[in-house]
Amino acid sequence: MATDRELRIRRELAATFRWTARLGWHEAVANHFSAMVDDHRFLLNPVGRHFARMTAGDLLLLDTADAGSGEVADGADITAWYLHAHVHAHVPRAKVILHTHMPYATTLACLDGYEFQMLDQNACRFFGRVAYDRDYGGMFMDDSEGDRVARLLGADNSVLLLGNHGVMVVGETVADAWDELYYFERACQLQVLALSTGRPLAVLGDDVAAVTAKQWHDYPHAAAQAHLDESMAILDADDPGYADLGARR
Ligand SMILES: [Zn+2]
Repeated sequence: MATDRELRIRRELAATFRWTARLGWHEAVANHFSAMVDDHRFLLNPVGRHFARMTAGDLLLLDTADAGSGEVADGADITAWYLHAHVHAHVPRAKVILHTHMPYATTLACLDGYEFQMLDQNACRFFGRVAYDRDYGGMFMDDSEGDRVARLLGADNSVLLLGNHGVMVVGETVADAWDELYYFERACQLQVLALSTGRPLAVLGDDVAAVTAKQWHDYPHAAAQAHLDESMAILDADDPGYADLGARR
């Protein structure tokens, strides 16, 4: 019997799939989002389902205890299993993991040696929290890759730019991770546009960036939760199927 907490997380995560498709940040039926519902079980999208059709009831309930078993969980995409099961198992603060190939972040991940710049207010939110995987070695097809990604996240990073591949964002709640994914892509969009002008970038200093990051962190409204709540309210009005808890298969 699913707990109220699991049911809420199912609806929240389903909403983020639908919004990712609305924003054009999805990739055919690939890419994957996951969220812990207790200390060892997590939700993950099933292989082959388009983000635009994802429902709360579609999400697989899997167990981190099976990470490292050498077997891919039933219904899971092989690369999703190896990445998400291991990161959830090894990074306790990564309660929610969102992995996309969203276009602007992925563009920056494909520039040789590129460092995410403190170029605008949105970028400063991520000061000191962006890590890089510059050793693309093909798709995640075995246990070692998930462990390596978990190490790269370290103690503080919430964004991992996956070189020649995409991005991974982790957070404590669906609202936190969704807000981070949204703002990271917006900041990356601005950086790609700024680079495209060929003019020198007006990069902010670390001192200003650090102050601005703290202001984001201490902001006196629960903006991330409001962002998710409003996103769900829009879907409730014109795409309410996301919240369907019935099993489809
Ligand atoms: Zn990927």
